Amino acid sequence: MPSPVAASVRPSVAITFLLLLTMVLVVWQKLGINRHLDVVHARGITIEARDDRGEGGASQSLLRATPQGLQLDCTLTKKYAWPYCGAYFGLGDGVHGIDMSAYHSVTLHVDYTGPAPHSLRLYLHNFEPGFSLPGKWETQKVNEIEFTVPADGRVEIPLSLLHTATWWITAQNVPLLRTAPQRDNVTSIDLYTGSQDAEGRHQLTIKSLRFEGKWISQTQLYAGLVAMWGTGGLLYVLGALVAYRRNLREARAHLASLTGINKALKLEKDELAGQVYVDELTGAMNRQGLRELLTRHLKTPSLLEQPCSLVFVDLDNFKQVNDRCGHLIGDQVLRAFAQLAQRSIRLTDKLVRWGGEEFLIICPGTDSTQALQFAEKLRATLEHHDWPAALAVTASFGVATLAEGEDFGRALDRADQALYRSKNTGRNRVTFADHRAEPQRKLA
Ligand code: GH3
Ligand code: MG
Ligand code: MG
Repeated sequence: MPSPVAASVRPSVAITFLLLLTMVLVVWQKLGINRHLDVVHARGITIEARDDRGEGGASQSLLRATPQGLQLDCTLTKKYAWPYCGAYFGLGDGVHGIDMSAYHSVTLHVDYTGPAPHSLRLYLHNFEPGFSLPGKWETQKVNEIEFTVPADGRVEIPLSLLHTATWWITAQNVPLLRTAPQRDNVTSIDLYTGSQDAEGRHQLTIKSLRFEGKWISQTQLYAGLVAMWGTGGLLYVLGALVAYRRNLREARAHLASLTGINKALKLEKDELAGQVYVDELTGAMNRQGLRELLTRHLKTPSLLEQPCSLVFVDLDNFKQVNDRCGHLIGDQVLRAFAQLAQRSIRLTDKLVRWGGEEFLIICPGTDSTQALQFAEKLRATLEHHDWPAALAVTASFGVATLAEGEDFGRALDRADQALYRSKNTGRNRVTFADHRAEPQRKLA
């Protein structure tokens, strides 16, 4: 019986498929699904010049787009405590920015002329519900890094090096657990002159400011894979559970049908066993049945309740019935006798076909007087019965009552002796056997 799980997808096939898919996705994430964002050239980004004049400084910056890139002309003046010039790249409406978690690095290509050192600051402002407030840019988390531009003007910065500005944490009084760098909702990117830059004219041509990343970050991929394996496992367990329940149901139904068959077979067996103990022609118990009865009596003595009487009956001159009327009529007579006898005895009495036209009636709880009365009544019934083929059928009787502690076989012999006497004294009569009579026949 195939289980539904096996019938749909075998676990080994599913596991192999998931393993392959996992490997492909991990490799794909490593080598492919690249994305980039060049904020200098991308559309939909607001680019503006920034300087410290708003904070009381005197630095001036001018920004214009040229075929070579964004040109920032900055005159840095140390009037404000932390003078700066720079470029602002707006990514959203100030509240809803872009998720830059999947970007891993940023590459800057810039031509820088002016007083050394040629250092720059890069800021990623992240709006985070909880402490960032709409319209208050200073409440957005400042992810920053400061670096020196090499002579060739190219620098690649892993974004993991960005940290949350300590001055911002202090100024905003941000709880310690919320101070980790985060760039899942970046609303703006700022590229400013360095904190230690000298006064004077700084000219920058920003050729590109390009963020490199993946469409799916490693963390997202692993989370997805965990979910995929979890779901697979869950589906397998559910499938196995359904299969188990179905098998159980089928097994129960099978068991029920087997029990039914068993019951029917037992009934049939009992019926067959019963048939073994019954004489086919007359329906009376046969000798095999008597043997079984006596065996049971040994185990359950109450079966043949004392006093117990035995009545032997033998049809008189039955050979002549066969000779004159044929065996079929003879059989009818035997059946009719059995019916008459059965109707005459009590429920607890047993009619046994001893052999041929000879029957034994066992009467538990019947003393000799009652047994003789019964035998005489039966004898008279037979004598006056309307037999087939208008036959006159009579029978001879031998009656014995089991003496206290007497063996069944001995009593049987006495009844047989009594029957013998009935035959010898003219037939169609009842003879009682005295319990002192000598046994001459044994139970076969
Ligand atoms: P008695 O009065 O001395 O008993 O004489 P009897 O003729 O009855 O006794 P006997 O033993 O000489 O003959 C019995 C006959 O019963 C012989 C046999 O053919 C017949 N018989 C035995 N069993 C059956 C049977 O099943 N069907 C028929 N039709 N006859 C049977
Ligand atoms: Mg006879
Ligand atoms: Mg006989």
